[in-house]
Amino acid sequence: MCGIFGVCGYEEAALSCIHGLYYLQHRGEKQWGICTTSAGEYDRFNLIKKMGKVEASEYDILKLKGNIAIGHVRYPTAGPADLDNAQPHIVLDPPLMYCANGDIVNYTDIRNNLEKKGVYFSSRNDGELEAKYLAYLIQRGKSPVDAIVQLMNDIEGAFSAILVYKGRMYAFRDKMGIRPIVYGMRKRNSHTSWIVSSESCGLDVIKAKFVGEIKPAEIIVFSPNSEPKTYDVSKKIRKPVRHCSHCVFECIYFARPESNIFNLSVYRFRKLLGSYLAKQITGCRQENSIVGSVPDSSNVAALGFHQESGIPLEFMLIRHHSTGRTFIASKDEREEKARLKYNPVRAVIRDKDVYVVDDSIVRGTTSRKIVRMLKNAGAKTVNLCISSPPIRFPCFYGIDTPTKAELIASSERLYDERKIQEFVEADHLEYLTLENLKNVIRDCGQNPEDFCFACMDGKYPTRLPAYKKSGCKGHCQ
Ligand code: SF4
Repeated sequence: MCGIFGVCGYEEAALSCIHGLYYLQHRGEKQWGICTTSAGEYDRFNLIKKMGKVEASEYDILKLKGNIAIGHVRYPTAGPADLDNAQPHIVLDPPLMYCANGDIVNYTDIRNNLEKKGVYFSSRNDGELEAKYLAYLIQRGKSPVDAIVQLMNDIEGAFSAILVYKGRMYAFRDKMGIRPIVYGMRKRNSHTSWIVSSESCGLDVIKAKFVGEIKPAEIIVFSPNSEPKTYDVSKKIRKPVRHCSHCVFECIYFARPESNIFNLSVYRFRKLLGSYLAKQITGCRQENSIVGSVPDSSNVAALGFHQESGIPLEFMLIRHHSTGRTFIASKDEREEKARLKYNPVRAVIRDKDVYVVDDSIVRGTTSRKIVRMLKNAGAKTVNLCISSPPIRFPCFYGIDTPTKAELIASSERLYDERKIQEFVEADHLEYLTLENLKNVIRDCGQNPEDFCFACMDGKYPTRLPAYKKSGCKGHCQ
């Protein structure tokens, strides 16, 4: 999963873009990149790509001239973690720049077709495929809007994207709206610039006003010094979908809590997760009990659990911030990080019945480390409360859930909840039910039918090629 950011119509577009990317850093920290251009010199691009977290020097910023900038933070799900696979991508004929978030499932078919027509690729990255496909269509006479419509029709899976072509910035997403994308505006000295971001927190940091979501089957075209133009292309979609398929896992774990995505507040969503979870556990022991989070992603759910149950909230695990996010680390790094990342506060844990709230159990090994850590710190009992249903199936749309064989709750492992409880060594294990997850969505004013739950119920919103069904997560054929 990744983050994208775009600025159109501001002289120091690169600096604003870097600030926006800082606030999207939680979406990927393996590579990052920025590309700039000017509306008047639209065939000249200034591109930097780097490994690691966003960190730009004065020299970088001087180099990145232009009043249009797009940027990307990457966490690799398909394609290696190198600079060829980092984004943004530029194409020289016709000149365009492009970045996107999300994985597509028919990558191999589209790439094979384009290669037969002489299109050359330098990476295994979905974003490069989409950029080259758009370039191919534009070169053959399609307008950028028509080329994007064809992309929406031919490419299956998740993409929230920004294209810059001839001094205009086009923002759009796949027809199911799987990954988030929002836009906003900023006024300075009677000058208006337009901003596109994966999450609304990217707008806040540069003091841009949130305008709204970019809807599925909608293309918004931004130009410096003029109002954006919105194209509703829903009538041109060959196989229209009745509902969106927003990734519910963005709301549970990935997005920042202060963000608004999919027309809901992530903070409110997570608080409700905790509240429903507490309601599920009848007979929580009040006296001698404490509730706490596995920081930071379950902080708000733990608050909701506390407010619903009345059990005192304590910061029982202190996180070391320089270790980064566990979920987006590689497998080896993840094992090591879980050990280094948290330190228990013995003074509040000792002799207590501990309710510890976490967002998910993936392989089970991190959860077991946390349970052991709390027991070693003197907890009388450890009750593991998970603010999502069991993750039973892999994701093919850009979240790095492991293969079926590695997921502890997968149908292949045949681990029921009792067996998982034994594996993680908890005294009690409670998952949020799928029905209560849907109740949270309803309480946030949205329709559960507009969300994807495929990693929980196996109902994928797109067709899957055979090699994906067999468990391959990458573009392996
Ligand atoms: S399968 Fe799960 S992680 Fe992937 S898009 Fe659907 S809800 Fe999100």
